[in-house]
Amino acid sequence: MNELGTRDLIIQASYLAASVLFILGLRSLTKPPQARLGMQQAAMGMLFAVIGTLLNSNILTYQWILIGLVVGGMIGYPMAMKIKMTAMPQFIAFSHAFGAIAATLVGVVEYRVRSGATGEEGLSHGLAAALGLEVLFGALTVTGSFMAFGKLQELITGRPITFKGQNAVNLLMIAVAFTALGLLIVNPMNGAAFYTVLGLAFLLGISMVLPIGGGDMPVVISLLNSYAGLAAAATGFAIGNNVLIIAGALEGAGGFILSLMMSKAMNRSFGNIIFGAFGAAPTKSTAAKGEAKEPRSITPEDAAVQLAYASSVVIIPGYGMALAQAQHVCRELMELIEKKGGEVKYAIHPVAGRMPGHLNVILSEAGIDYGALLTDVDDANRVIATADVVIVIGANDIVNPDAEDDKSSPLYGMPIFRPWTAKAVFVIKRGKGTGFSGVENPLFTRDNTLMLYGDAKGVLGSLVKEIKALDEGH
Ligand code: NAP
Repeated sequence: MNELGTRDLIIQASYLAASVLFILGLRSLTKPPQARLGMQQAAMGMLFAVIGTLLNSNILTYQWILIGLVVGGMIGYPMAMKIKMTAMPQFIAFSHAFGAIAATLVGVVEYRVRSGATGEEGLSHGLAAALGLEVLFGALTVTGSFMAFGKLQELITGRPITFKGQNAVNLLMIAVAFTALGLLIVNPMNGAAFYTVLGLAFLLGISMVLPIGGGDMPVVISLLNSYAGLAAAATGFAIGNNVLIIAGALEGAGGFILSLMMSKAMNRSFGNIIFGAFGAAPTKSTAAKGEAKEPRSITPEDAAVQLAYASSVVIIPGYGMALAQAQHVCRELMELIEKKGGEVKYAIHPVAGRMPGHLNVILSEAGIDYGALLTDVDDANRVIATADVVIVIGANDIVNPDAEDDKSSPLYGMPIFRPWTAKAVFVIKRGKGTGFSGVENPLFTRDNTLMLYGDAKGVLGSLVKEIKALDEGH
């Protein structure tokens, strides 16, 4: 076998290994105890993909690749190590934007080179379609991801920015972009059509994310993820790279399924998220619209006594727990209750926090066993109904009874936990702040609900201290 044949064989073998590892990685990620392994498999897959690509005989010089590797590594490594879990969504948006820049640049360069070449190296209709789709999805993802990053990082307002006729303008831009794509496919040498697709895609990324509220950004990011996957797959077709086609298809499908699952768990349609301007202004719940019933509070001393003698406790953590980074002290509280003979379970809602698996990750970081987590809403509600105490820690929307009782509530229809069915409910939050949806929560004024006001980490710390003091007989 000649040198070229051997090299090609090694490249294809690396790509095959990479594709298999990507699929195994995704499979492992479906089970939390194996999630770490899944990430390692995927990273190993990426290493094979990079090695295979570096062996490409078309590479003339490694100088710029090496510079890119060093500079990228110097920026990426410290960023990934330092980033806080709560800032993960914007970090993902930011890194997406760079992946999309790469795909878009490949599309533009490939178009310029191919449109100047003739014969087999030139532009076929199929190749023009692949390059057009690549820059369409790539450019849309670049600006869309930067917008999502800006909203989550609060560089721009997280509130939806809307204007009259916005949806019509967006639909018109989409129609023009697809018409230009059609013209490009019919005549691949039509450079004006190619650059129209590119320019409109950049604009669409901005205009489509503007009217979406900051809290919906995780859904947007996973949708953009799926666009980036499509751009990568199109790049794969354009440059004849199998691993890009496979990885792009996996990312495209994965991102889309994740967005659908998040929308379903929030009981919102895709249309409502993309065009609904959710979170524009706070609204009142039905209960709150009537009279002003004030929530009752309890001191950590009294709460500690109830917890010390409880035989079953369910903890419902939410976004506030992640913000307060209260997971470690929460585990300490759990261990104290268990030492006194009580059983502690965690009810984890599919959309608790601000990204899929947000609370699972935080609890596993604190060493809380996966077996203590109830991740099915119906199963959790059955356990909650028999619990002595439910502690709601920095959660709001996922325990809002209006999701069942108030048809006019934006939360109506979302599956929720029902802590009020337990004997007693303690709610830990700092004050009267609403949750992500901006609606008030009648749970806080229910008869068996008592508030423990303060930062989650501080309040849990006080509970731990009080239970220990009980043990010491103070
Ligand atoms: P939430 O409804 O956003 O409520 C969080 C609560 O935490 C707030 O009411 C806040 O009240 C409290 N809080 C904030 N900081 C705190 C601190 N340091 N200590 C104690 N409490 C604190 O959160 P959630 O119940 O987890 O619900 C998640 C929401 O996000 C849902 O509406 C869901 O649809 C949405 N969402 C989720 C995802 C996802 O993938 N997970 C994606 C997009 C949207 P105070 O200000 O009074 O303290």
